[in-house]
Amino acid sequence: MAEQHPSEPASEPPSVLWFRRDLRLGDHAALMTAASHGPVTALFVLDDTLLASSGGPRTAYLFRTLRALDADLRSHGGALTVRHGTPQDVVPALVQEIGAAAVHVSADFGPYGARRDERVAAALGEVPLVPTGSPYAVAPGRVLKADGTPYKVFTPFYRAWSEHGWRRPADSDPARVTWLVVDGDAIPDDPATDAELPEAGEAAALETWKAFQENGLRHYAKIRNRPDLDQTSRMSPHLKWGTIHPRTMLVDLEGGNDAYRRQICWRDFYGQVLHHWPSSAHDYFKPDMKRMRYDGGKHADEAFETWAKGETGFPIVDAGMRQLLAEGWMHNRVRMIVASFLVKDLHLEWTRGARHFMDHLIDGDLANNQHGWQWTAGTGTDAAPYFRVFNPVSQGEKFDPTGDYVRRWVPQLRAIPGAAVHQPWTQDEPPADYPPPMVDHKVERLEALDRLKAISRET
Ligand SMILES: Cc1cc2nc3c(=O)[nH]c(=O)nc-3n(C[C@H](O)[C@H](O)[C@H](O)COP(=O)(O)OP(=O)(O)OC[C@H]3O[C@@H](n4cnc5c(N)ncnc54)[C@H](O)[C@@H]3O)c2cc1C
Repeated sequence: MAEQHPSEPASEPPSVLWFRRDLRLGDHAALMTAASHGPVTALFVLDDTLLASSGGPRTAYLFRTLRALDADLRSHGGALTVRHGTPQDVVPALVQEIGAAAVHVSADFGPYGARRDERVAAALGEVPLVPTGSPYAVAPGRVLKADGTPYKVFTPFYRAWSEHGWRRPADSDPARVTWLVVDGDAIPDDPATDAELPEAGEAAALETWKAFQENGLRHYAKIRNRPDLDQTSRMSPHLKWGTIHPRTMLVDLEGGNDAYRRQICWRDFYGQVLHHWPSSAHDYFKPDMKRMRYDGGKHADEAFETWAKGETGFPIVDAGMRQLLAEGWMHNRVRMIVASFLVKDLHLEWTRGARHFMDHLIDGDLANNQHGWQWTAGTGTDAAPYFRVFNPVSQGEKFDPTGDYVRRWVPQLRAIPGAAVHQPWTQDEPPADYPPPMVDHKVERLEALDRLKAISRET
């Protein structure tokens, strides 16, 4: 059943705006294009393939974001039509139901999204699937080297990306859109999760961004590596789901703030790496590293569980893993430390850790996550060299010098003051309810380097 707002009959056929990772109404290029052709029906497809790859916290956060988008649409006379099913069935069915002339989307450059869109375009036949804009400041494929090949190294990419520039925000005022409301399925209840999630939706994204500009941005370059100060922007879940476009943020960064702009560029960089090398989502970007000896079997499974629960006996690692379970988010520096620990101290493959992160992160993003893991594991493009092994104690002392981060997440260590919290075993009476270190870092570092030497000898 379709209901049109405002009540004036429209002469032009409607179109469908199919939302995916662009769950906002402001600065929305595809919405602008759709609205310029006539009435618009807002659609979101609950696609089982994507839901199956998302853990409870991210799914719950998605559902909250959808509810917020629906409420925003309703305040402008529209509504979000949610349909459960396979996109190549659902989208053409809706097109037929309302007689839509086109389906508008923000382009998806991920491996699954690109394949899905090809299938949907084929199923739509004569009705075009029209991409306008993307989740990135500069769409993957636009910034290339002089010889036309993609960048594998960040710094020259950053230079070329800055020179290329990006469009101004799109003026997609939802009040000017004629919405065509169509019945759909209910947004499901949130799946159970123990994680305490931040506010979802476009208004929350804009508020978070505003608060960060007022309080955190000025000090960002100095404090971005300090999990104890906890003053990074926390924009990642919003960027993941597109409740804000990076362009909206870049406009506010004009005239300085290079350190923050670089981080937005890392996101674009990994987006284009995944676009040009889709297999890097699962395969080692440096194939030689696949030949390294990694641990498997029961002992490795137990070590993985200990790491995942945050019971390794290394305070900064445990604090990070517990923050992940409690908030569905972890500070970037700590993501690097826990990832390094899994790969270089426990000798497990990065893919295992990446899967665990994707299960728990509300900002879980295939491009950022897989390449963040490959970077830390020394297997990726422009990666930290494998032989650079993070020492979890000195990393803790350097980046959590107050010890506040560890004490926040590991209650068993709260009685230990200052940076001494990073070595609880040196206390006269180490806390009885906190485990001793599960490995000897010095020994495991040498073991990691031996394993690297073994594959270097073979090549
Ligand atoms: C092992 C590992 C896994 C990661 N997994 C993810 C993930 O699944 N999703 C995700 O969004 N980020 C991931 N990152 C990158 C980074 O940790 C997060 O983007 C950041 O911690 C989010 O917090 P923030 O928004 O406060 O960041 P800020 O420091 O405020 O940065 C602003 C934004 O820049 C982008 N950004 C910052 N650092 C990076 C980076 N290293 N790579 C790519 N983009 C970056 C993010 O979109 C972020 O929101 C991962 C990093 C590592 C080392």
